[in-house]
Amino acid sequence: MKFYSLNKNAPAVTFKEAVINGIAPDKGLYFPESITPLPDSFFNNISDVSNQEIALNAILQFVGDEIPTAILKDILAKVLDFEFPVVPISKNIGTLELFHGPTMAFKDVGARFMAQCLGYFSKKSDEEVTVLAATSGDTGGAVANGFLGVNGVKVIILYPNGKVSDIQERQLTTLGQNITALKVDGTFDDCQAMVKSAFLDNELLEKMKLTSANSINVARWLPQLFYFLFAYKQAKKAGREIVFSIPSGNFGNICAGMVAQRLGMPVKHFIAATNVNDTVPKYMKTQHYNPKPSTATISNAMDVGDPSNFIRIRHLYQDNFEELNKNLSSYSFTDEDTKEAMLEIYETSNYIADPHGAVGYLGLKKYLENHPNTYGIFLETAHPVKFLDVVEETISHQLEIPPQIQKVMNKEKKSFNISTYNDLKSFLLR
Ligand SMILES: *Cc1c(COP(=O)(O)O)cnc(C)c1O
Repeated sequence: MKFYSLNKNAPAVTFKEAVINGIAPDKGLYFPESITPLPDSFFNNISDVSNQEIALNAILQFVGDEIPTAILKDILAKVLDFEFPVVPISKNIGTLELFHGPTMAFKDVGARFMAQCLGYFSKKSDEEVTVLAATSGDTGGAVANGFLGVNGVKVIILYPNGKVSDIQERQLTTLGQNITALKVDGTFDDCQAMVKSAFLDNELLEKMKLTSANSINVARWLPQLFYFLFAYKQAKKAGREIVFSIPSGNFGNICAGMVAQRLGMPVKHFIAATNVNDTVPKYMKTQHYNPKPSTATISNAMDVGDPSNFIRIRHLYQDNFEELNKNLSSYSFTDEDTKEAMLEIYETSNYIADPHGAVGYLGLKKYLENHPNTYGIFLETAHPVKFLDVVEETISHQLEIPPQIQKVMNKEKKSFNISTYNDLKSFLLR
């Protein structure tokens, strides 16, 4: 399988090269040259198949023979060692809980898969790879944890001073080993700008192999399609048409769901639910794509004004708006709406949703108003404890701290302070 650049100005590459490069030399995102549907029998019998087997079937065509199948199986066993339950909320709504991994963020699967692939590829070369990542909160913890102890890979995470939660900061500053955290005097946008500058800095690129760990990387993006297959496996028995509502920021997760659909998984419709960062809902209304700076919200992992993966979705539909519109609805919600939804879910179903999941729930409810006979699944992308203050205040109920989180609470935070790109560069070249 080859991957080509969506900017069409760079050579097609193998899975291995796509993973190591992250982004193509022409700054385009990589895209698989084909998506071959799995046989009908795969979906008919999916209820009897283990998650690891499902994942192997789904990812094999993209990885090809770049990783021997026995090793790919080992990787998937390491990556998928927790549950992905669909929990009923009401008669026609369920939630797919994606937060049972080590950092309780849905990004655990993608981050761990990418880390394992990169670890495998770098074992076979003597050049060390440096992964550079900016985080507004959840990505950093998942990436740090996923890459911890992977030989041949150094990880540097930039996060904005004072703008991530205490738990999130602990998750990325207490690990040590090959993980370094840089505390940036500035906003998330400043962190991201520094990372971008590094990727354009030829002096730096000559001296080290740099790659990114965000959902631009195919090894972080594609494994997210497993979630949808795991949900389908559980929801299929209801015998109703299924729709998915995905709380979206960079639109990598939902785009992976659409790849699962191209693999032949029966899905009736996708709903992209956003907070007030509504670039895509606006696009679906007006057909005009107007990126803008992000606005801070209580669902902060989705505070994205120019979603990097939306271009992959448009490409999947060959920029045919009519076709996209048949398969995707998109709605945006305010923080007030989100808190009301959290309270509603708690009071009617005794279920505690985090702000991101609550946005997904709102999008689903809106769609179901006009499609009452479908079964809707919204994705719960983070454990509510990751957003402790807002959740406890909204539902007036104290949460228990799960063991994964408790583990980091007493560890010492370690990070280096930086404030400019030059600080970052001298740090990297030191
Ligand atoms: C990253 C993230 C999202 C958004 O996912 P995208 O793939 O960027 O759309 C939603 N919720 C949580 C908790 C996240 O960490």
